[in-house]
Amino acid sequence: MREANRLSQISTSMIRRMFEIVEKARKEGREIISLTIGEPDFDTPPEVVERACRAMNEGFTHYTSNFGLEELREAIAERYGVDASQVMVTAGGSEALINASLAFIEEGSKVVIPTPNFLSYFTYAKMCGGKIVQVKTHDNGFLPDVDKLNEVVDRDVSVIFFNYPNNPTGAVIGEKELKAIVEIARDNGAVVVSDEIYDQIYYDVKPTSLAGEENVVCVNGFSKSLAMTGWRIGFTIADESLLDPMLKVHQVNGVCAPAFAQKAVADVFAEGLFDSIVSRMVKEFRRRRDFLYSELSKIYDVVKPEGAFYMFVNVGEDCMKYAERLVELGVAVTPGLPFGNYNETYVRISYANSMENLQKAVEIIKDYESQKA
Ligand code: PMP
Repeated sequence: MREANRLSQISTSMIRRMFEIVEKARKEGREIISLTIGEPDFDTPPEVVERACRAMNEGFTHYTSNFGLEELREAIAERYGVDASQVMVTAGGSEALINASLAFIEEGSKVVIPTPNFLSYFTYAKMCGGKIVQVKTHDNGFLPDVDKLNEVVDRDVSVIFFNYPNNPTGAVIGEKELKAIVEIARDNGAVVVSDEIYDQIYYDVKPTSLAGEENVVCVNGFSKSLAMTGWRIGFTIADESLLDPMLKVHQVNGVCAPAFAQKAVADVFAEGLFDSIVSRMVKEFRRRRDFLYSELSKIYDVVKPEGAFYMFVNVGEDCMKYAERLVELGVAVTPGLPFGNYNETYVRISYANSMENLQKAVEIIKDYESQKA
């Protein structure tokens, strides 16, 4: 047995190594506070669970249309100001991302990724035979420089990936810059994959959605907003001309998202519960962000996150060594390099963890830094 060539460039070694180190420490009986978590630490809200149980009893246990349950598509369409025909429900945001990648990344074409960025984009691009072009964003609060992108994007680019609010930095881009990037992509015939999975988790300025924009595939879902990572409900919003190629992949890939989970989310919208559920969680994330920002900015140069539940911190030393030393002291963080080049001295800190654990973790980080000094 031999791994297919298309996987030969894909390395998961750093993340795996961190995982193994944490597992080993836990097996040795050491308590590790994990700030590596990429999902809300809250359970799925009871409002969703109750509606899912009801849906199962009502027989929502079969395939749905490939596009998804009509009532869920309608609810999403209304929220984003598009037509329901532009919405396709997928098995999580990840399925939507791979559908878009297989549909639009031409072998040998360039795939532009402003970095740091969500690590899966690198994997999708490599799997599909794309040539990755990374555009560094550190000097600009982790936001891409539109002029720089203009220089980089040409007719050889098939796809530009980004996500705002951003994983791993928490950055949120302004509407003007966002639209300018779409314009550049459009002028060069490239598809923009705008991953908006964290769009409900923001603190001050509401992030702009690109839903309904020509040449744009919006990827979204309820994994983060409704704390439903295990349920696998995502969606794509795009024009018919883009949705059709993605449907070809979805038909043989996700087929449909779990029917009872789709129905539960549709009912949450129909009964007007969505916003109140989201705001409960965001309120808690904000409290934690404020705490972490005020503490960590005393020791590091930190950009204040505007959304999601991550902070990307320059710790001023090799990210893997830092992460390994910190695990020894009881805190796990994610090294920055898997999020792209130029992140050698950065780590991602997730605050999807209790306030009590965050307080303990901050003390440990402070101790570590004071011993270094
Ligand atoms: N996009 C980003 C930026 C993410 O962080 C994640 C989850 N870590 C996803 C997409 C995938 O989410 P899902 O669970 O819906 O597949």
